[in-house]
Amino acid sequence: MQVPSIQRRSTHPIQVGKVTVGGDAPITVQSMTNTNTCEVAATLAQIHSLQQAGADIVRVSVPNLEAAEAFGQLKQSIDLPLIADIHFDHRIALRVAELGADCLRINPGNIGHPDRIKAVVDSARDKGISIRIGVNAGSLEKDLQHKYKEPTAAALVESALRHIDILDKLNFDQFKISLKASDVLMTVAAYRQLAATGITQPFHLGITEAGSLRSGTVKSAIGLGMLLAEGIGDTLRVSLAADPVQEIKVGFDILKSLHLRHRGINLIACPTCSRQNFDVIRVVNELENRLEDYLHPLTVAIIGCVVNGPGEAKEADIGLTGGDPQHLLYLNGKPQHKLKSEHLVDELERLIRSHQSTISSLNQEHG
Ligand code: SF4
Repeated sequence: MQVPSIQRRSTHPIQVGKVTVGGDAPITVQSMTNTNTCEVAATLAQIHSLQQAGADIVRVSVPNLEAAEAFGQLKQSIDLPLIADIHFDHRIALRVAELGADCLRINPGNIGHPDRIKAVVDSARDKGISIRIGVNAGSLEKDLQHKYKEPTAAALVESALRHIDILDKLNFDQFKISLKASDVLMTVAAYRQLAATGITQPFHLGITEAGSLRSGTVKSAIGLGMLLAEGIGDTLRVSLAADPVQEIKVGFDILKSLHLRHRGINLIACPTCSRQNFDVIRVVNELENRLEDYLHPLTVAIIGCVVNGPGEAKEADIGLTGGDPQHLLYLNGKPQHKLKSEHLVDELERLIRSHQSTISSLNQEHG
């Protein structure tokens, strides 16, 4: 299938541990733990769940020095890049840098005295740690709040430029930037404005405090989708008032929808109508639940009747078109054999999983 491709904004790559952000690197998906960081076992369990869901990077809140020590323990137990989320206190930044942080989320303009800013940046430089400047509409500097009266895209950009200027003056370019608001249009406008300055720093995308699983997913898909479709964005976090694992799943679904990254099943299904020849909704939902662990890129089309079934099935790796009394299965776009309604989910799951093992063995054969 021929789809228009997205020309990504040109950025210079930075490292978040072993993961590259920006340049030609794939757009990464990250999330943040919501456990108490000092409860190391619980936080570790959550990081493992995020890793299993496919997270490329995980951010952990480090509100105090005790949490910094816990962060160090986490670092020793996992191999996923970890970002330390720090506000204001440079001592925490220095400590997590010593303990192996892969990136610091800290706004240099909020650290205070220039000597403290320099100490943090020098430590990051010495240890090969990147920084994220994270501007948020909810915590703009007082003078910008006064100047703009209320958060605006221009205020977010002005705030970011101040932090950027500090790092520029310290000759440090290993940083990425985020400009988040809970309003979709403001966020999109802010990223566009900053991109238009010609800056080559990678962007971390997000709609902050987007809301619950449903409304937050919709807001994030629209806002991040608009930017990604324009080529803006190098890493993203979907912020949901929900299990962080959902953030990873939604993040990948957004990237998948734009053909920017392929991971897990791209499930195509019809909305159903009275022409359906089997219970499409039940089959699709059950299949999706059973295949949560399946990470190989694969397109599967489940269509209720011949109106759209053959057309979709021809473009899919595995396709099913509802018929009466039996349904036609397609493999790699070609009709294969008929299936009865009773065993549709079992048979589709078996075929999808065997498709994965066929590909794995082919990959092994080819080294
Ligand atoms: Fe209805 Fe067939 Fe269209 Fe599905 S593909 S919505 S069953 S007409």
